[in-house]
Amino acid sequence: MRLVNFCAGPCTLPLPVLKEAQAEFVDYHGEGMSLFEMSHRGPVYREVHDRALTLVKQVFGTPDGWEALFVQGGATLQFALVPLNLLGRGASAGYLESGVWGKKALADASHHGDVYAAWEGAAFDFRRMPAPDEIRVRPGTRYLHVTSNETIGGIRLVQFPDLGVPLVADMSSDFLSRAIPWDLFDLVYGGVQKNLAPAGMAVVFVRRSVLEDTNRDLASYLRYDVHAAADSLANTPPVFSIYMMGKVLTWMLDQGGLAAVEKLAEEKAALLYQAIDHSDGFYLSPVDPASRSLMNVVFRLADEEREQAFLSAAEQAGLVNLKGHRSVGGIRASMYNAMPRSGVEALVEFMSDFRRG
Ligand code: PMP
Repeated sequence: MRLVNFCAGPCTLPLPVLKEAQAEFVDYHGEGMSLFEMSHRGPVYREVHDRALTLVKQVFGTPDGWEALFVQGGATLQFALVPLNLLGRGASAGYLESGVWGKKALADASHHGDVYAAWEGAAFDFRRMPAPDEIRVRPGTRYLHVTSNETIGGIRLVQFPDLGVPLVADMSSDFLSRAIPWDLFDLVYGGVQKNLAPAGMAVVFVRRSVLEDTNRDLASYLRYDVHAAADSLANTPPVFSIYMMGKVLTWMLDQGGLAAVEKLAEEKAALLYQAIDHSDGFYLSPVDPASRSLMNVVFRLADEEREQAFLSAAEQAGLVNLKGHRSVGGIRASMYNAMPRSGVEALVEFMSDFRRG
């Protein structure tokens, strides 16, 4: 039996994708070996690689003039690579401290450039994102870094701020679940292990014109321009993640592409928030309604002592990984693209039964 897996990442993958990969795992398309035993320079892998590169731009709707890069080291390495590549001498960058991940991005960037907090969510207990006019951008700012969705706090930036400064976004936890207003951005990155593929890399979208002016005085793997020039084959790539991502992207196209995926994400989140809001105070959402995440729904029981019983009973019912992040406690249901509506319906029904005792 497959459980309904609400893990924050890695997380559930589409079942048809898992089955397809299983069927061709040992002998890939009659080649007499698996794809993962072949040279990454050979034609069989190259086709998989190129298809994934094309599909990721197609499904994301990336405009001409942008590159997609596959880079190992997760989103965390991007916390360093963004300032290393983009911050030349004398330039600075602003960061939204919107939660755990925005803070980590700023802390890591501070080792590599002149960076500052352009807004601090601590004053609001990280329960909401800023309105554009609350963000303080200093003169000489090269980019403003935003975290589009704070995975632990369960808040999302609904409107990307247009402040005349290019945005750089960490979209790890709502990657490919919403349309991106590309004009506002110079760079968008995210780890793949929530919405796109098994763990193993980040996808980095970067404007080609930005690459003309990046820092060249870096070890080669750290340079965006090197990855772009080599079609993300500068060294041995994370073959399994790329292969699986190609399959997930094809599956997404079959579902109707980004627009359909975004609509489903809105519907799933609405179902769950309604269950919380209409529970006569039994369940509580600690998040400002205007900043509610569609991907990570965080909630509490009014009687916090019963949360453990809730989690145990949910697990018995096959609804797993609902425990909130260890730093904040409570309940968190992560509902990425591969979570079917039926999974959320099962959770909502369970919540209603639990409340009635
Ligand atoms: N940013 C966000 C918003 C995340 O949710 C995570 C992982 N949960 C990270 C960055 C770190 O990603 P990785 O583990 O791929 O380095």
